[in-house]
Parts: sequence; structure tokens; C-alpha cells
Amino acid sequence: MIKGVIFDWAGTTIDFGCFAPLNVFIEIFNNKGIAITVQEAREPMGMLKKDHVRAILSMPRVSKLWAEKFNREFNENDVEELYSDFEPALMSILPDYTDIIDGVLPICAELRSKGIKIGSTTGYTRKMMEVVTVEAAKKGYTPDCIVTADDVGTGRPHPFMLYRNMQNLGLYPPKSVVKVGDTITDIQEGLNAGVWSVGIITGSSEMGLTESEYRALPETEKIELGKQVKKTFFDAGADYVINTINELPVLIDEINDSQNQYLLLTPGPLTTTKSVKNVMLKDWCTWDNDYNSIIQKLRCDLVKLATNKTSDYTAILMQGSGTFTVESVIGTTVEQNGTLLVITNGAYGDRIAEIAKVLKINTIVQDSGEVDPPDLVKLRENLQINPDITHVAIVHCETTTGMLNDIEAAGKIIKEYNKVFIVDAMSSFGGIPIDVSDLQIDFLVSSANKCIQGVPGFGFIVAKTTELKKCKDRSRSLSLNFYDQWQGMESGSGKWRYTSPTHVVRAFCQAVLELEQEGGITARYARYKNNQKTLVNGMKHLGFKPLLPESLHSPVITSFYYPENCNFSFIDFYNFLKGEGYVIYPGKISKAQTFRIGNIGDIHEKNIWGLLSAIEVYLIR
Ligand SMILES: *Cc1c(COP(=O)(O)O)cnc(C)c1O
Repeated sequence: MIKGVIFDWAGTTIDFGCFAPLNVFIEIFNNKGIAITVQEAREPMGMLKKDHVRAILSMPRVSKLWAEKFNREFNENDVEELYSDFEPALMSILPDYTDIIDGVLPICAELRSKGIKIGSTTGYTRKMMEVVTVEAAKKGYTPDCIVTADDVGTGRPHPFMLYRNMQNLGLYPPKSVVKVGDTITDIQEGLNAGVWSVGIITGSSEMGLTESEYRALPETEKIELGKQVKKTFFDAGADYVINTINELPVLIDEINDSQNQYLLLTPGPLTTTKSVKNVMLKDWCTWDNDYNSIIQKLRCDLVKLATNKTSDYTAILMQGSGTFTVESVIGTTVEQNGTLLVITNGAYGDRIAEIAKVLKINTIVQDSGEVDPPDLVKLRENLQINPDITHVAIVHCETTTGMLNDIEAAGKIIKEYNKVFIVDAMSSFGGIPIDVSDLQIDFLVSSANKCIQGVPGFGFIVAKTTELKKCKDRSRSLSLNFYDQWQGMESGSGKWRYTSPTHVVRAFCQAVLELEQEGGITARYARYKNNQKTLVNGMKHLGFKPLLPESLHSPVITSFYYPENCNFSFIDFYNFLKGEGYVIYPGKISKAQTFRIGNIGDIHEKNIWGLLSAIEVYLIR
């Protein structure tokens, strides 16, 4: 979030074209019998003026002229002498070069109304600024902070004038600050400070024209000149270049948008990496081979992530959020006279039962409430007394509470009775090791925006091919018929029926690559576990109590009770943490007041520590 803008003075906010010092530099060298060019006088602009004198003298052509004229190299005494000519000459003309550049006053008012502080740095000395600030104030320009090189001991390109502004105005970190200037040394100052360094074209010293000269230029020449100045700033490393100060508010919005303003500590969508977001900037044709070959590779990669026995399984991608894919599996796998047993202990299990009900599928629901694990004795009993059951569905990580259900033990019982085994591994696949073959899972469902760390837009199924083949003509839906989707992808070499979410798919490919680069699911599991352990220990230390006993926790998301003995408001807590850069999640259970904190996505231990200290600040406020 941008909290402050620090402007240069001459050429940026006053003195269009930065002419005051220019003429004086030319004059003092002339008095010594040395003719310097406008270009030479301008080049070091932005530096502290004494450094500027030395920089001109150090230019090979000027050094040579000096040596010829005085029969020796220039020395520090010459710098002092020239500067002693410079200062009074400049002081006498300075008040005439303090006109405010167009746009500065309204833009500063607009920035201030958004709570943005206005600071300033300059190549002028404190003594010069005493004149400049008085004149500028008469014309309405009064920044919140003015720092000169004498205040901090050294000028540009060192960053210390910026740091002093940041200290005085309470601005941090550096990426919450924008520096705007019109010279190369301005750009360098910004870069050295680590703030956003922005060059301004119109009225700049780099452009070097007076306002009337500039206005008189034909439009095409203005554009051409602007291009050259822009290139000079970018070559110097500028983060952004603007034509006039009027573009600053939009630029600030853009910078704010480009920075992830907060981390999502939620069950999805999650915080994704910049590289995952970046690959979405290209458009793809769904018909083209370039795109479809990506799909085929992705399907193979998903099967590899799900099992070592890759030849027995296939992967199918399905448009929509995760629930659409769950619905496609329930609606496509259970035959017309089949019966589905749903094991539920939370909202996502309940959702499977609801889907089955809407689709008019015979359904038996085995519910163990919100805070207890599935009852496996009951499961066996249900399978025993209901021989009609053909399919059994269970959620792996019940995201409602964060509970991790024992699908291995459940699977063993389900397979003893030879039932088709469906697992909603939405919030665990990619973050917790699962081998569908070892666990005897026939259909596993997950989606793009959970532990694989992609963005939302589609789900996928890892299916045992022999079981999938039995599903022809069973679907209760056209678009959610994942058997037909599979057929389409097989015969069309990766083609989706109906428009596919191309950008999301591309981001997902990048996410799969990054999962591999992290060290695969084992490494990601270790990171998530460590995040969750750090979170729970830290929260306990702060006095919070987790809803579940530790043995039932998943490394994905954790529910905490509201703190006791205080007027706790979740909304207030939420808003405070959001302001500090962390978005958490409300609770989802009916029997107790809870909230949830997720730790999946591009989240690392240091982020958890950051969150914990923000929570600590909230509590002691
Ligand atoms: C996220 C999630 C889903 C799917 O939710 P959508 O909002 O449809 O993406 C399903 N089951 C579980 C366990 C989940 O965590």
C-alpha cells in the first residue's frame, strides 16, 4: 500500500525545465574563461550543487580545457572557488524560479485526501531552500517534509535524504513509498533507497525545455522527445515513467494492485506466486496443438502426483469450482439403481449428500457431527446391513473444521465390501501425500485453487480406468458428464468439450512445475505441517484454544475458539488483520464460536510469525 510520495523540487514540482541552476553554472565557468555547453551543465543535475560543480570539472572535455587554460589539473580549491561564485549568484535569481508546475497543487491535494504523505528531497542546500520554500508556500505548495543534503551529510545519489523523509513521516517499508524526480540522479536515489523510483517527463531537466518552448512544439515532436526521455529514465533503472504529475494517482493504484496487498490464510483461493499469476498474461487458442499438448501433459502429471501405479489411472479436468467436479463424479458414477453412502462430519460431507439428494440418488448418510472423526464401526455396520450400497464417498480433509479423516482405514473396510470408493481430497491433494492405488481410491476429486496452488476455475478427477469405463451412459447431466469429458480428451488429444478456462489451466501448469521445484508433495507437506505447528503453538501462547485435539488436525487449516472473557468481535479482528496484510476466515460450525486460519498456498513460516505478531498487537492494543 503506497503511504507516501517524495518529490524532487526543481524540474519536478517547481521551475519547469529546471533552469535556475543551469544558467548560473554556465555563467560561473564563463567567468573563468571556460565555455561549457548546456548539455554539460545539465548532465549532473539533481546532485548537491557543490558535487555538481565537481562533476562538470571532471568531464574529460572540461578537465582538458581547464588544464590548457591554467597549465594544471583542477583541484578541490577550484571546486570551492567556483562554488563560492555559484552560491550568491544562484541565491539572487532563485526567487524567480519557484513557479509551481501545472497539476502539482491539485494532485497533492488528491493524494493527501487519500492519506498519502508528501515528502521532498533536493539538490539545493538548506540555505537555498529557505528561499525556495517561502516562495513556493506563497504559491500554495507546502510538502509535509523537506530534507536537504546538509541535513543528512550527503546528497544524491545516496538514499539518505529519502530515509530521513521516511523517518520523519513514519513511512515504511520502502515499497510503500514512491519517489518522483526529473533527473538521472533522482532515479538513482530512489533505486538506492529501495522505493519505487519514478521519472517524470514533462518539465524535466532531462527534457530541458522551458514551458513556452515545450508548448510550441508540434505534437509529434513532443511525443518523440517524450520517448527519448522515457528511455533515458528506464535505462537508468526507473520502475515507472509518467508524462505528467497528473498520471500519478493512477500509477499509485496500479502499484497497489500489483503488490499482493494481503496474504490469504484461507481454504482457497490461496495466495499464489507471482510467477503463477504472470503466466496468465498470454491468450491461448483452445483448438490449437500448443494448448492441447499442455492438457495432455497436465493429465499425466496429475496421475503421477496421485500414484506410482500410473498405468491403472487417468485424470480428467472439469470446468467450474470444486463442487462442480464433486457433482460430476457423484452424478456420473452412481448407476440409476445404485445407492450412495456418504460419510460426513462437516459442511463438505453434507454437500455431497445434498448433491445426491438433488440428483435423486438413493443415499444413506452416516453423520458423526462436526467435531468427531468418522465412526468406522458404524461404517462396517452400515455396509453390513445395507447390501444395496454401491458407492461410498468421504471427505479427506474436512475444511469446515480442519479435521483430517482417516481415509486409509475407511478404504480398507469399504473395499472389504467391494464398494466403489470416492474421496473428496479437494483441500488435501498436492499438500498431503496420497497414493490412490495404495488407498484403493477409485475416484479422487480436487481442484486447481487448493494445495497445488493454482487459481480457481476448474477441478479434476483422478480415476481408476477400469471403474471409469463402467460409467458410460450413467450421467445425470450433460455438461457435468465427466465420462464424456474423458472420452473427449482422449479422442481429441486433450480437447475439452465446451470452452476451457485457458488462462487458469496455464497458471495451473506453472503451479505443478513449482510444486515439483519445491521438492514434490513430500516437501510441500513438510512446509504446511511446519506452518500449522508454528501457528498452533503461537496461538496457544497468545491464549487461543484450538477447536480440535491435535491428533485430529490437518496441516491445512485450523479452527480456533473465540477468546474468552472479552468482547471479541470477529469482524473487528478480521479488519485489523486485513489492514496488517493477513486475511483469515470465519468459522463454519454451528455449535461453537470459532474462526479459521489456513496455512496452505505460497505461505511460509516467516508469514506465520508475521501473522502471530499482528495478532499479538491486536490483543494488547
Ligand atoms: C474447497 C472445497 C470444496 C469445493 O469448494 P468450491 O467452493 O466449490 O471450490 C469441496 N470440498 C472440500 C473439502 C473443500 O475444501
